Amino acid sequence: MSAVLSREVLDRMLAGVEKPARYTGAEWNSVVKPWEGARVRMVLAFPDVYEIGMSNLGLMVLYDLVNAREDMLAERTYAPWPDMAAAMRAQGVPLYSLESRRPLTDFDVVGFSLGYELNFTTVLEMLDLAGLPLLASERDDTMPLVIAGGSACYNPEPMADFFDLVVIGDGEEALLELGELYRDFGRSPVAEPGSRAHRARFLRAAATLAGVYVPELYRPRYDETGCYQGLEAVAPEAPDRVTARVVRPLPPPPTRPVVPYLETVHDRAMVEVRRGCGRGCRFCQAGIIYRPVRERPVAEVEEAAARIIASTGYDELGLLSLSTCDYRPIEQLLERLIARFGEEVAISLPSLRLDSFSVKLADMVQRRRRTGLTFAPEAGTQRLRDVINKNVTEDNLREAAEAAFSHGWQRIKLYFMVGLPTETDEDVEGIARLAREVLAIGRRHHGRRARVSVSVSTFIPKPHTPFQWAPLVSDDDLERRQGILRRGMRGQGLELAWHDVRATYVEALLARGDRRLGPVIRRAWELGARFDPWEEHFRPEAWRRALKETGVDGDRFARNGYDMGQALPWDHVDTGVRRSFLERECRRALGAERTPDCFEACSACGVSGRYGVACWE
Ligand code: SF4
Repeated sequence: MSAVLSREVLDRMLAGVEKPARYTGAEWNSVVKPWEGARVRMVLAFPDVYEIGMSNLGLMVLYDLVNAREDMLAERTYAPWPDMAAAMRAQGVPLYSLESRRPLTDFDVVGFSLGYELNFTTVLEMLDLAGLPLLASERDDTMPLVIAGGSACYNPEPMADFFDLVVIGDGEEALLELGELYRDFGRSPVAEPGSRAHRARFLRAAATLAGVYVPELYRPRYDETGCYQGLEAVAPEAPDRVTARVVRPLPPPPTRPVVPYLETVHDRAMVEVRRGCGRGCRFCQAGIIYRPVRERPVAEVEEAAARIIASTGYDELGLLSLSTCDYRPIEQLLERLIARFGEEVAISLPSLRLDSFSVKLADMVQRRRRTGLTFAPEAGTQRLRDVINKNVTEDNLREAAEAAFSHGWQRIKLYFMVGLPTETDEDVEGIARLAREVLAIGRRHHGRRARVSVSVSTFIPKPHTPFQWAPLVSDDDLERRQGILRRGMRGQGLELAWHDVRATYVEALLARGDRRLGPVIRRAWELGARFDPWEEHFRPEAWRRALKETGVDGDRFARNGYDMGQALPWDHVDTGVRRSFLERECRRALGAERTPDCFEACSACGVSGRYGVACWE
């Protein structure tokens, strides 16, 4: 076993880095279990900085579940910021867990939570800091298993070279099953450096678990032009398709979350009220991959909230879901929470539906601070909103704006996307027109104090959505549309913010690529790419060079669309939603035909048949 990092060495490193509390551990509610008492030791790794990772509810859910098991333990590690990474390399200190300060190589399993493609290079940075070989094929029986789960794993191919296995879908049950399998399998009795025999046997057994994908048990096929033809299973244990795990009902939420010593992105109590969304927006990957919709009972949410607040001292509570206003008993829940906590606890609704009902809900909870309300019309014209199946009208927006401004809010933020399929300049002009209309409503109530901010991101066609075949907007079109918006958004009271577009191409590349991207990701990391979601760290030149040096045609994956009949790199991942449904939705999109919310009418996406469940109870 390797040495635990001493406090003395840690202190020496911390003296020279920003925000040392990122690296000290010992936070309130963190769990330090006896090392020797556990038969399976996992470290949950988040490939971004501590403040982001600590706001991730998924990691906290798994931490809680694994630590509730007597025979297992889970600790945490986050990506050291470049100043700390440099200090660790200078001191020869490998990446360690926050709880026991043991190196990652001491654990049985290193489990990455992977929710965003731009974090891929940071995974490599963490493996390298841990002293682990980057390639799964180079890790032997003496080393931990390196696994991953999360929404960015629904196309696992770009990272297939680096992970021993990937969990597709909800992780709660699958991670525990993997832990049990590992416990029963036992560590390698010989564990000779260089031998992979024990590991290979374990991976074959793991491939039989539902939702577990073992990349080394598959070989990709390409035609003579380099066009991807599909994956071939090379072991009898490997299923042709891996079906995403769905937990149902949702397991009880964690009620003793770790409380950080420094401010994090979402520094508040969090309860997931609902998983999944049946609205069917055609650009939205989460709306497909988290089907079917599952809701927690009001009493369970209320009780969990009370326990979290008691165990943490938080005075803010976030009710999380993809679309919290769609949680059916939302009014009842808010009434009960308000009755129970009164003014002591501020309740936040992270996503508001675009209607006056949502404003009414916001009005119930935002008694103290009326900072601003955010809505997401996503597109500037009704035609384009119909194309993307965003079932809201301009009347909905006007009503919501009227309700918000008349109830005292002075600022409204609107989210839009550009680069959507079939988009024209007129659709982009529509964004500015809507913003001006909303501002005019605000002016009637608040005069020149009214504000409308428009935040625009670039649409990326993501796997498993009806738009998965679409191309990425060209740089020229994007530039022209930015110009249209800038001109349309001039004037007092209007603000325009663009999400950084430089990383869009890389995000599309990593979301839509196949295994040929492994060497590209590795080369980009060698050239300095890491923390790619951070504007100040994003290195477009490293990615350009990595593509050039590896001879990979990035446009094939990122820019060009796929043909509908073509094999897709993520075809072996079965979300439960049928491909024929996605094709139908894509065709309906081109005809600007809307599809109703699952709650109004079932559109036979396939989920209910696949999992043998009724989507709404
Ligand atoms: S089976 Fe029907 S109700 Fe269930 S998620 Fe699919 S479309 Fe929605």
